Amino acid sequence: VRLSSSTIALLQRLSIGVRPSAYGVLDPARPTLGAVAHVTDSTFADAKDAIERAHRALHDWRSRPAGSRADVLYEWHRRIAASTEELAQLMTLESGKALVEARKEVSYGNSFVRWFAEEARRVNGEILQAPSADRRLLVLKQPIGVVAAITPWNFPNAMITRKVAPALAAGCTAVVKPAEATPLSALALEQLALEAGVPPGVFSVLPCSRANSPEVGAAMCIDARVRLLSFTGSTAVGRKLFAQCAPTVKKLALELGGNAPFVVFEDADLDVAARALAASKLRNAGQACVATNRVLVHNAVRQELISRLLPLLGGEVLGHGLDEGVTMGPLISAAGAAKFHAHLDDCVAKGATVRCGGVSDERLTPLLAAGAETEGAPFCAPTIVDGVSPRMELWREETFGPLVAIASFSSEAEALALANDSTSGLAGYFCTRDMRRMWRFAEALEVGMVGVNEGIISTEVAPFGGVKESGLGREGHRLGLEEFLEYKYVAWGDQ
Ligand code: ADP
Repeated sequence: VRLSSSTIALLQRLSIGVRPSAYGVLDPARPTLGAVAHVTDSTFADAKDAIERAHRALHDWRSRPAGSRADVLYEWHRRIAASTEELAQLMTLESGKALVEARKEVSYGNSFVRWFAEEARRVNGEILQAPSADRRLLVLKQPIGVVAAITPWNFPNAMITRKVAPALAAGCTAVVKPAEATPLSALALEQLALEAGVPPGVFSVLPCSRANSPEVGAAMCIDARVRLLSFTGSTAVGRKLFAQCAPTVKKLALELGGNAPFVVFEDADLDVAARALAASKLRNAGQACVATNRVLVHNAVRQELISRLLPLLGGEVLGHGLDEGVTMGPLISAAGAAKFHAHLDDCVAKGATVRCGGVSDERLTPLLAAGAETEGAPFCAPTIVDGVSPRMELWREETFGPLVAIASFSSEAEALALANDSTSGLAGYFCTRDMRRMWRFAEALEVGMVGVNEGIISTEVAPFGGVKESGLGREGHRLGLEEFLEYKYVAWGDQ
């Protein structure tokens, strides 16, 4: 495990050392080795200060021509691209994700910076057809104001750029509370933004421990100057924040949990299906809100699909994310691994069978062995469990780990009922070669995003978001910028 000298220099710059107002950041793959860095443990007062600075910076920033804000975003984009390796290594260090995936995330995250730099200059108002000749009716689009964002640990870079880049493009200022586990990626982005010419106060990061998260969150929710709260995380926390924002009637953008079905029909190309499913399930070791949670396979092709999945899961190389060749790191925490095991045990107790992986997977032995550097780390092997049913815990709750949970069906109507049997509605996937079924099923799935013969759907170009309890609003796409705009109608008489 080696960090490059430039990453070590960056780490030293971001770390403030041990002091009472700091907390330690851990390497999930080496939880017993102690903190890899110390960062500010922000408080309610710090959050109020940051909001105050964002509020003061708002007037100048929103008054700039859009092209000038775009230039700053382009420069941020250029600097992120030039620091890809350092950002990726920091991300692996704090989140555990394999370096190959961390590099992809930096580039994915940076795609939002570029996209919204491009979109910044396309925010136009409207002139309406007035009901009488002496009037002119206009619609102006204006930045909503100060924006607060709370982000998760599973995509420590992209979940920030996807919110901050459109906010800044629109002329808003932003205060971000990153997840307690992954403040380094956030702080590095903030530093690159400052170097790129983002004025002080326009984008600030408030790292804090889990213990301080509720007070920093509360400061954001109750402050009337914050006009929009953008949150990505669990449905439980999203609901709490939603309630806390009610008194100040803030706009909310919520990207909450998913429970994605992945349906494989009897007419599917099974190689395509197996590859798409493995990609959707194993990305970030299954820790993605769009990750497949329930696999629904037509009875006629179930065994064949499983046999094609086995080599794909078997090909994953587990280990410390910074080690050469590793494709899957540990989960984020012991609690994450405990949930994976609880779901697996529950399935087995209720009659499902483990087809590969599980606790006896031989890849785990050297990683968890006494004395190994990674001893006690939350590694989980990619696992297939067959015979899953709606009575099992994972049917209602995301596993957030590499568990391929397979249930079966025998008709399209049954598949649809099972797929839609969820209070969540973020992503849904299905594989078929029948063109008419593609339309029919895509339209009938109760989700915000559909992958057809495809397991990786996220891109800055398309609107990301969910229906039902998976959230409000869309990120990416032109709509991702609209979130940060207010419409103002102006009636102009006496013409
Ligand atoms: P996870 O369980 O995956 O960590 P969470 O929804 O708990 O997902 O966390 C997402 C983000 O919400 C993190 O930044 C976390 O610190 C933050 N968070 C958790 N609880 C609160 C709270 N009560 N108020 C504000 N933010 C919170």
